[in-house]
Amino acid sequence: MTEARNVSAAQTDAVAQTDAVQPALSVRHLTKTYPHADRPVLNDVSFDVPKGKVLVVLGPSGSGKSTLLRAIAGLEPIQSGTIALRGEVIDEGKPGRLTGRSKRASALRTRIGMVFQSYDLFPNKTVLGNITMAPTLVLKRKPAEAREEAMQLLERVHLADRANAWPHELSGGQRQRVAICRALIEHPEVLLLDEITAALDPEMVREVLDVVLELADNGQTMVLVTHEMRFAEAIADRVLLLEDGAIVDSSDDPEGFFTNPQSERAKQFLGSFEYKRHEATA
Ligand code: ADP
Ligand code: MG
Repeated sequence: MTEARNVSAAQTDAVAQTDAVQPALSVRHLTKTYPHADRPVLNDVSFDVPKGKVLVVLGPSGSGKSTLLRAIAGLEPIQSGTIALRGEVIDEGKPGRLTGRSKRASALRTRIGMVFQSYDLFPNKTVLGNITMAPTLVLKRKPAEAREEAMQLLERVHLADRANAWPHELSGGQRQRVAICRALIEHPEVLLLDEITAALDPEMVREVLDVVLELADNGQTMVLVTHEMRFAEAIADRVLLLEDGAIVDSSDDPEGFFTNPQSERAKQFLGSFEYKRHEATA
């Protein structure tokens, strides 16, 4: 008994050490060019996300934020650089590989979850069906077990009473919360969120962002793109500013970054979210 406890304590220590040393997600020198483009959409991008931390990626429209998330999710091939989860390289750029699927093994597929701006639920499946589909079909989990976990997740996002509703019966905010559950049921090590409130009416933004804040409090490692600056400031452990596919500023002190940005680019970018009236001078 004592021995067993010691062994498991040693294992826990080993895991803790690995976590301390290896970032949950590590991106190195990532470069990507779309077919027929004359320059890279992502150019030598490198960053780490420690386990349990939240990285917020900021940047003007077209700066490459979605492409970055999609590349990490294995949805876009990369031409150079590496993407590693806990030190294990899951994708490696191949020069000349402009199209086709990345080399990511399907076994690694579920280690990264992603939620997009458009809540792309399957219209012909109920809320519960949407959440349990991948775990039962792809991961071959027992339907009853998947349903039970789906219900727990719906509880967490305050939608347990809508388990049997159809997507068209839900508001946009509710659909996004279901989409979050659908990603979470695969227990992703890293969750990627791409402007998940951008298409929502203002009153629904809050209910979705509250769920994301709760995930952060529970130690879910996340990379998120958002234009909600107050939310970004509240949730970020680390901030990156992308411009033309390159990191032009970054900070481990989000409060300082948002309240007193140092670089001209950050000042300019954050300034674009402020409104001032130009009072006529007498
Ligand atoms: P962001 O999310 O920051 O707005 P994107 O990653 O969507 O930026 O796009 C970055 C650049 O890549 C833009 O110039 C966009 O036009 C281009 N782009 C995005 N997707 C594709 C694609 N599938 N094929 C070619 N170019 C693309
Ligand atoms: Mg985008």
